[in-house]
Amino acid sequence: MKIVYSPAFLRHSMGPGHPECPERLEEILKYLEKNLKYEEVEPSLASDADLLLVHTKKHIENLEKLSALGRSFPDNAFSKETYSISKLAAGAALEAAMLSGSSFSFALVRPPGHHAGKDFFAGFCYLNNMAFAVRKMQSLGKAKKALIVDFDLHHGNGTQDIFKDDPSVFYLSLNQDPVFTYPGSGFESENNPHIRNVVVQEGATENEYIQAFESSLAESVVSHKPDLIGVSAGFDTYGLDQIGSKIRIFHSSLYNELGKAIKNCGVPTFGTLEGGYYLPALGENVYQFLKAFE
Ligand SMILES: [Zn+2]
Repeated sequence: MKIVYSPAFLRHSMGPGHPECPERLEEILKYLEKNLKYEEVEPSLASDADLLLVHTKKHIENLEKLSALGRSFPDNAFSKETYSISKLAAGAALEAAMLSGSSFSFALVRPPGHHAGKDFFAGFCYLNNMAFAVRKMQSLGKAKKALIVDFDLHHGNGTQDIFKDDPSVFYLSLNQDPVFTYPGSGFESENNPHIRNVVVQEGATENEYIQAFESSLAESVVSHKPDLIGVSAGFDTYGLDQIGSKIRIFHSSLYNELGKAIKNCGVPTFGTLEGGYYLPALGENVYQFLKAFE
């Protein structure tokens, strides 16, 4: 097991009191250091040229400019380092993908990525780490058909935006009902043969959740036959998460079951951290997920 991580991720700040805070990674690391056997790997920056695989030139220039200016928006704060730390997070996702052939690897990053689209940043995300890693793996000839499994509470509207016209990448998202959940997308009516949104209803139990996860994952693997699986791992489905979970997940072991279901697909797999804000359980939730791949 390899964890791709840099202390630079702690320097990214959304401002005081913001739930997407450096303490998230500190809590996770504290828990993993005590409980999991892993090797830490240092990432390198994604290059501007490579980022064009998923983002427009205008978006990349925009991020650079907003970072230099230190501008802030309700869900995205910029400081001088935002652009470079975002590129390091994208680079970390790629590093995890590159290592996926030998063992499961996980990019423990901030900022997260799945709300960042071709030409937009949103929801605490700037660059789409997962999409970048998958596209770069394809461009290197290391993957042909990839499956992205996104179990964050929120729909990965950025990931869907990037891949909606690209049948070489299957995007599977389990997301809470978009009628009352940010970003307001992720309806099953948006599905196409390689985009599959599964809406999880308010009040769903752990049992209902794992059943929906296992069956939609198995069907997606059978229909797409991926040679690479990327997991957008968000832990804000946890029932006590303050970002809006109305799903009744209260046992960290549920995340172990998600990990096992993915591992059982028998395909080279890597993951990146997306959301998850309830600090008292975040370390254990991430640990339980990773433990499935030991
Ligand atoms: Zn989320």
